[in-house]
Amino acid sequence: MNIIFFGPNGSGKGTQGSILKDKYNIAHVESGAIFRENIKGGTELGKKAKEFIDKGDLVPDEITIPMVLDRIKQDDCSNGWLLDGFPRNKVQAEKLHASLEEAGIKLDIVIEMLLDRQIAKNRIMGRRLCAKDNNHPNNIFIDAIKPDGDKCRVCGGELSARDDDQDETAIDKRHSIYYDTDTGTLASSYYFKDLAAKDDSIKYFTLAGEKDLQSVTDELISKL
Ligand code: AMP
Repeated sequence: MNIIFFGPNGSGKGTQGSILKDKYNIAHVESGAIFRENIKGGTELGKKAKEFIDKGDLVPDEITIPMVLDRIKQDDCSNGWLLDGFPRNKVQAEKLHASLEEAGIKLDIVIEMLLDRQIAKNRIMGRRLCAKDNNHPNNIFIDAIKPDGDKCRVCGGELSARDDDQDETAIDKRHSIYYDTDTGTLASSYYFKDLAAKDDSIKYFTLAGEKDLQSVTDELISKL
């Protein structure tokens, strides 16, 4: 099962994505997380990516596209993958499509999480990452997933906030890229929506992201 999951930064697609990962036993490929691991590990890739990430800019396509296309051909993706954070612009969408065709890899599901930009911004600023699993949902502004004091509500792990989640200018830039329907992430989502309209074997559906976590999960499961 191969899935692309679109949604604005802060919409909760990482949390929902990890539910799909467990349901289908597939790899959760998060481009942002790959960059963060590289930054943490002090790699060359991490050093290059950091300057863009800190400002809320996209890491250039010549770095990002081969990185993700190689990643989905690794062994742990043989049972399927869920792409989260990629593609993020129209060029990435076209290259992904061409690469899948070339490799004979089938795309099964495309999900677009809908969420108002201001709500997404508030959610980003309240988001906290668990040191043990960054998909454990913790947000200081959402009652249902408030951390347990300063610890992860799921496992008690240490929590931290991402630097780019606390910088309003960086958040605004990330959202301007996401909501851009000409060349940005929504353009990329609509690229796959058009493909799905012509190809019955690809399922494309939207999810209402403003509901609480459990309701979004219920809608997701009912639409799969
Ligand atoms: P995210 O964790 O998805 O919010 O991504 C964090 C940051 O990583 C983004 O703001 C970008 O700087 C970079 N990034 C993640 N995915 C991509 C992508 N597909 N293309 C370019 N840059 C990306």
